[in-house]
Amino acid sequence: MRNCVFCKIIQGQISAHKIYETKDIFVFLDINPYTRGHSLVIPKKHYQDIFNIPAEELEKLIVEVQKTAKLLKDKLNAEAINIFQRNGRMAGQEIDHIHFHVVPRYGKDGVEMLPKGNYQGNDFEKIVKLLTK
Ligand code: AMP
Repeated sequence: MRNCVFCKIIQGQISAHKIYETKDIFVFLDINPYTRGHSLVIPKKHYQDIFNIPAEELEKLIVEVQKTAKLLKDKLNAEAINIFQRNGRMAGQEIDHIHFHVVPRYGKDGVEMLPKGNYQGNDFEKIVKLLTK
């Protein structure tokens, strides 16, 4: 897609620190990393987010997310790994080309992801009803 930064990276129009690629997937370092080795896993085909990527493409993507997580854990000696993915501006999505963040964690790296849950609503049953009818 025109004007998509990640499409431009895949096409070689913008440089990136590539880790590896397959026929369908591209893996590279985030330019503004949370930690050492923070990587992004993206499909070569442009899909905006989780809502419009076809399930079979998402399956391929998540398998590479797992491979990337293992790679970072093994080769960079990460103690743990965070994996996350944003959909929509309110969720913090900046680049409208679906991507999974794979973030290696090291000892006291000081990185805070989402804060602990603090939703005060006491409407669990109502939610389940809404989601299951
Ligand atoms: P999100 O907020 O989930 O859309 O994440 C977008 C991510 O893309 C951010 O973590 C950025 O640091 C990263 N990013 C933006 N432009 C580039 C680029 N040219 N190369 C590598 N990472 C990028």
